[in-house]
Amino acid sequence: MEKMLVKSGKELKEKGKAYARWYQEEETYLEEHPGQAPLLRFHSMEELDWLSLAFSTRLGGVSTGYLSSMNLGWDRGEARENVCENYKRICNTLGVDYRKLVLSDQVHGVQVVYANEGMCAGEDIEKKLKGVDGLVTDRPGLVLATSYADCVPLFLADPQKHIVASSHSGWKGTVRKIGQVTVEKMEEMGSKARDIIAVIGPSICQDCYEVSEDVAEEFRKNFPREAWKDIIEKGRAGREGEQKYQLDLWAANWYLLREAGLLPENIHLSGVCTCCNQHLLYSHRATDGKRGNLNGFLSIR
Ligand SMILES: [Zn+2]
Repeated sequence: MEKMLVKSGKELKEKGKAYARWYQEEETYLEEHPGQAPLLRFHSMEELDWLSLAFSTRLGGVSTGYLSSMNLGWDRGEARENVCENYKRICNTLGVDYRKLVLSDQVHGVQVVYANEGMCAGEDIEKKLKGVDGLVTDRPGLVLATSYADCVPLFLADPQKHIVASSHSGWKGTVRKIGQVTVEKMEEMGSKARDIIAVIGPSICQDCYEVSEDVAEEFRKNFPREAWKDIIEKGRAGREGEQKYQLDLWAANWYLLREAGLLPENIHLSGVCTCCNQHLLYSHRATDGKRGNLNGFLSIR
């Protein structure tokens, strides 16, 4: 097995954002397995030997064309058996049973559910959870699988209580604060926010993420004024002269997790952009939607 550093997060510190003095440099590695699908791994979670966190890339699957080759989305316009084969391949690299996957059918909402054995994908790899954007569990062996292609993956772990959570936080989920909802769900199960470690996973960076005035306004409405400077930057003027903005979803989610009570030293930012790394990852924005799905895989050993 070969390990290659994808990003150390160092250059993010140099951007001069107020929150940057806090966040921990995360090291993201591409783990290559001869003859198998590669995985991305995150240094901060690798240190926790009771869990496994991996993120897929677009490499090592059977999909073709713009879906090439590890598409893990059911609704991207390809045969079901290809997607199933891709899941089986990546589970093979992970060393987990694909029947134990818990797959969420995400809708950019804020529903976070407790995952148990009854929700497992089973032999047919079925997506049993509808309208769910976050999963939390304390059951060893279940593999929480959430999907992405620019949206922000939030991976949370409580080393005291051995509880893990995985949530999908696109711009809509971010303004509706799914990060906080997820932390609250863990607290209901006995976690203390100050014990929770978080990884903000591969997703679109601020330079790549242009939004319109109405989206920027949603963020102004839902975030404290002192955070605006880090989250929303004035961009170019659009074709009709309307003002565009560059949105930093990483910063927004960082502030959310802080507001939820996480300690700044426990929030790690991968700094890997899906849109800047199209050879390795799928990006919705970069391809106008002609893309596959990436997945996070989080489990308690
Ligand atoms: Zn980028």
